[in-house]
Amino acid sequence: MKAGVLATGSVLVSAKIANAQEVIAFKLPDLGYPLDAMEPHIDATTMGIHHGKHHAAYITNLNTAVASSDDLKGKTIEALVGDLGAIKDAKLMATVRNNGGGHWNHTFFWDSLSPAARSGKPSDDLTAAINASFGSVVKMKEAFAVAAMTRFGSGWAWLIEKDGKLAITSTPNQDAPMMKGMVPDTEIGKPLLGVDVWEHAYYLKYQNKRADYVAAFWNVVDWSAVSKRLG
Ligand code: MN
Repeated sequence: MKAGVLATGSVLVSAKIANAQEVIAFKLPDLGYPLDAMEPHIDATTMGIHHGKHHAAYITNLNTAVASSDDLKGKTIEALVGDLGAIKDAKLMATVRNNGGGHWNHTFFWDSLSPAARSGKPSDDLTAAINASFGSVVKMKEAFAVAAMTRFGSGWAWLIEKDGKLAITSTPNQDAPMMKGMVPDTEIGKPLLGVDVWEHAYYLKYQNKRADYVAAFWNVVDWSAVSKRLG
């Protein structure tokens, strides 16, 4: 009898610990600015749905996936998306790839935006790095726009730092430049800037005109934040 009571108590403690672990979940980050802060370049309705519905859904799905696997619990988002090959279950891996990537990419995207009046310009160091790799800021923006326009379907265009140089890449879906083993090695690098070219990011205001959205995006790039990522 006594052993039975102890065993029951032990089970209860384990359940409490398990619940406590599930409480430590990824949360939707605050934007740090009002939904209409990027008007007219990115409209408030798009921002609200994009952040409050799309990004939130990635987080909900990611938390469900993490809660289902003891191997995933307690890891940072960078650890999860940077080592997807460690997840042996193919379906679970795909869920973390899509939704973990979605969480990381969107957090990075929100942190890359600033109202047009405070957008600024690349730092001297970043300007020098851009000039060394592309010839000029204008040429970098052209290459970035080409990557954004030629990404078929949904995905992202990126400015990345790789082996001491800068490069323009793009990824499908919610893949990100740190997803080793998932994206080609040529596209692995440190992301400095990314633009979301999923239709949900621009369709309400720009409809099929992705090029107009990408051109408008430059007005709300937070160059201070982007410049600090260099190095
Ligand atoms: Mn998005």
